[in-house]
Amino acid sequence: MKVVEILFYDDHHVKLVVEMPDPNCYSTKHAPHIPKLLFKLFPHLSEHRCENENGFSFRRECQSTEIPHLFEHLIIELQGQVLRSGTLKGETQWNWRVDPKGRFHVYVEYENEVLVLGAIRVAERIIQALDRRDVESINVKEEIEKLRMLADVGDSLKPQESIRSVEMEMAGNR
Ligand SMILES: [Zn+2]
Repeated sequence: MKVVEILFYDDHHVKLVVEMPDPNCYSTKHAPHIPKLLFKLFPHLSEHRCENENGFSFRRECQSTEIPHLFEHLIIELQGQVLRSGTLKGETQWNWRVDPKGRFHVYVEYENEVLVLGAIRVAERIIQALDRRDVESINVKEEIEKLRMLADVGDSLKPQESIRSVEMEMAGNR
């Protein structure tokens, strides 16, 4: 799985174009080891809610879902572990009547644009490593620490105006 395009399309959403190297192997049905290993590394993923026709839990849904859909939830999970607040949403779509088979459009909400870029790259690397069953190369704690540093950079780049209003809100809540 490869991210071929990242687009900031409004203040709180990025759109990713994701392609599968083998267009016939896009489902966790073809790679059941990916969700299995991913849930071990990120147990909190089983708390994720996901709308699906069958009413399955996200964990059950992951036995047969598109790998980019799993990737979408991982980007949200990584951001959530750093932010520790709020709920972010996402969506994965495809239309192979228009696009080549194996191409997906993944939409993810974000609060911090530097953090979301980092989370996309880390999530991509994790999915690729799990696909190779290379769990040893992933250190979740270290990745989250690095993402936390990126989040600080993102905060420092926010326009002064909005930082001031957040400070005022915080002061007002005290
Ligand atoms: Zn979902």
